[in-house]
Amino acid sequence: MNPLELKFLKPAVITAKKGQPFAEKFDDVYFNDLNGLDETKHVFINGNKLLERWQNNHQQAYFCIAETGFGSGLNFLATCLAWQNCQSKPQHLHFISTELHPMSQHDLESAHRLFPEVSQFSQKLLAHYGSFRCGTHQFQIDNQITLTLLLGDAAACLKQLVAKVDAWYLDGFAPSRNPEMWSENLFKAMARLSEAGTTLATYSAASVVRKGLAEVGFSLEKPTGFGPKRHMLIGTYNAVNDNTVINHQPWHPSPQAKIKQKKVTILGGGIAGLCLARSFSLAGFHTSIVDQNTQALKQASGNGYAMVMPLITAQKSPEALFYLRAFEHAKTSYSTAVFQEIGVAELFNQQQAGRRIENINKLALSAQLIEVTENTINYPNSGYVDGQALAVDWLKYVDDWITAEVSEIDHSDGWNLKDKNQLSIHSCELLIIAAGIYSQALIKPHQEFGLTAKLGQTNQLLTNKSLNLSHVMLNQGYIIPINQTDQSGHYLLGATFDHVAAANWQQTEFNEIDHLSRNLAHWHNTEYADELNAGQLIKQHTAIRATTQDHLPICGPVINQKQFNIDYQDLHHGRHWQSYPSAEPIENLYVLAGLGSRGFTSAPLLADYLMSMISGQPLPLEADLCKIIHPNRFNFRKLKKG
Ligand code: SAM
Repeated sequence: MNPLELKFLKPAVITAKKGQPFAEKFDDVYFNDLNGLDETKHVFINGNKLLERWQNNHQQAYFCIAETGFGSGLNFLATCLAWQNCQSKPQHLHFISTELHPMSQHDLESAHRLFPEVSQFSQKLLAHYGSFRCGTHQFQIDNQITLTLLLGDAAACLKQLVAKVDAWYLDGFAPSRNPEMWSENLFKAMARLSEAGTTLATYSAASVVRKGLAEVGFSLEKPTGFGPKRHMLIGTYNAVNDNTVINHQPWHPSPQAKIKQKKVTILGGGIAGLCLARSFSLAGFHTSIVDQNTQALKQASGNGYAMVMPLITAQKSPEALFYLRAFEHAKTSYSTAVFQEIGVAELFNQQQAGRRIENINKLALSAQLIEVTENTINYPNSGYVDGQALAVDWLKYVDDWITAEVSEIDHSDGWNLKDKNQLSIHSCELLIIAAGIYSQALIKPHQEFGLTAKLGQTNQLLTNKSLNLSHVMLNQGYIIPINQTDQSGHYLLGATFDHVAAANWQQTEFNEIDHLSRNLAHWHNTEYADELNAGQLIKQHTAIRATTQDHLPICGPVINQKQFNIDYQDLHHGRHWQSYPSAEPIENLYVLAGLGSRGFTSAPLLADYLMSMISGQPLPLEADLCKIIHPNRFNFRKLKKG
C-alpha cells in the first residue's frame, strides 16, 4: 500500500495465543512469549548499542531510530523508557516506524496492559493513535520524544521519507512468514537514509537479510540471539552516501540551516508567521517577528474568523493529499478555545454535482471527514478558527515583536533588514520570509516564483433574527456563525476573490469595489437571504491574499535562481538526474508564502515542516509532497519545458 494513496487501512485481525496478541495474517506472535520487553532490550536497544551511543553523543541535538513494523508499539515504548532512564543523552529522540496492518486502538491497549512498566508512555501514545490514513503521521509524545508513524508498506513509506537515521530496528515478522517486506527496495531505502556509522539490529539472521543488507553497504555480525535463538544480526553502514538528494530530485533540496545560535527571525506576522513562531519556539528557538503592524493577524489573515477544512478532490490529487495532512495537523495544533469544530455544510445542486458526489462516494472516506446528504456535502469535523483568540493564545511564542516596514533584505555577515531609507531595522543569522504577497519583492534578487494576488473582502453582519446555523455554510461563498441568540445573530460572510495586477500590489485602499453585495449574492436563493439582506454591516476587512499558479503554498529554501538557470539550462533535453548538481540554496534564507485562502488550514503543518527542515529533523511530509510545495518547482518546470 502506497503512502500517497488517499486511503484508510483496515486494522489487523488479532487473536490471542497464550495471552499474547497473535497476527492471523502472518500466523505469528507480535513479541516473544518469554518477555517482550527483554527481547526488545537485547535485540534492538543493545544490538544498536544505544545507551553507549546516547552517552557518547550527548551534545548531539537529535537521535533518530527507524523501525519496520510498528505492531503493538512495544519496541517504541521500551525505547522511550530506556531514553527516560538514560542520564546523559542527545536533546531529542525521533522514533520513526512503518506499519501496513495497524492494530486497532483497543488491541494496542490490551497488548500494553501486559507491560505495566511502560504504562506512562502507553497512555501518551494512545492519546494520539487511531487514524489509519495511509502516509505520514507525526506525534509529539512529550517535549523530548517525537513519533513519526508511516502507514503503508515499509519500503514504499521509507522511499518517501526525508530523514537521517542513526539506528534501525528491523522487525516485521521473520522473512519466512513475511517475505514481501524484506525486499531489495527496503534495503535500498535504508541505505539512502543511512550515514557512515548508522547501525542496525534484527532478530533475523536469515541469508536473504544478510545478503540484502550487505549488498547496500552494511557490514554485519551475528551475535547470540534472544532466549533460545542462536543468532541475531547487527550491522553498521559504511558507504558514503549523498542522502541530501531525495527521490532523485537534486532540483528540490531541503537543506538544514547553518547557524550558530538557535534564533530565527520571521518577516511577517500573519498566520504563517505566527505558526512559524510557535513551531520554532516549541523547538527551543528564540523567535523574532518583524511586521509593519503592531499585532499579529492583521493583514491577509485579519478576517477575524477563518475556516479550517480539508480539500477533497479526486483520488489522485496531490493537493487533496497535502490538505488532508494539513487539516489533521491544524486540528491538533489549535486549542479547543480557538478551533470551533462545528462542521461545514456545503450546499450543492443535484444536477451539477453528480460527478463530484460519485467521486466522493468512491473514495469511501470516514463519515467524520466527509459525508453526502440529500442536499449538502458535510465536513463534520471541520470548523473555524477564532483569529483574535489565536493571536492572544500564541503571542507567548513570540519573544520579540519588531514593528517596522521592511523594504529590502541583504546578506553580509548575516541577514540585514532595511527600511525604505536603507536604514537598518534588524540583523539575524536565519531569516524566513512569510510576508504574503510582499514576499516576492523582498526575495526577487534571488528567486522569482510567480506569486499572484487576489483581493478579498469579508463582512460581519448582525441580523435581527438568528439564522440558526449549526455549521459553517458553504455555497461558493461562506457564512461563519460567530454568535447566535434567540433574538439576533452575528455572522461573517466571505469572501470575494478578485485578481490584482502586480502594479497594484502595494495599494492599500480598495474600498471603491462593492464586495458586500457579491458576498450576499451567494445566498439569494436560500432561506437565509431575507435576514442577511436586512442585516447590519458592523465590520469589513479587505486584503490581498497571495496565491500561486498551482494553488499550493510555497515553503522551503530560497534558491539561487541565476545559478540554477546556468546549471540546468539543458534540463529540457533530460540528462540523467545524477549529472546535475544540487540546486544551490541561498544560505539561511527560507520562505513560507502563497497560502491563498487556506492559510489557517495549511500553516501549522508548513511551519512544523520548515522548522524540521531547518533544524535537520525528519520531515513530517512525504518527499513527493515536499516537491509540490517547493519554492523551486516553478523554475524547474519552466526549464524542463525549454
Ligand atoms: N515492533 C512491533 C512491536 O514492538 O510490537 C512488533 C512488530 S510485529 C513482529 C511485525 C509488524 O510488521 C506487524 O505489525 C506487521 O503488520 C508489520 N508488517 C508486516 N509487513 C509489513 C510491511 N510490508 N510494511 C510495514 N509493516 C509490515
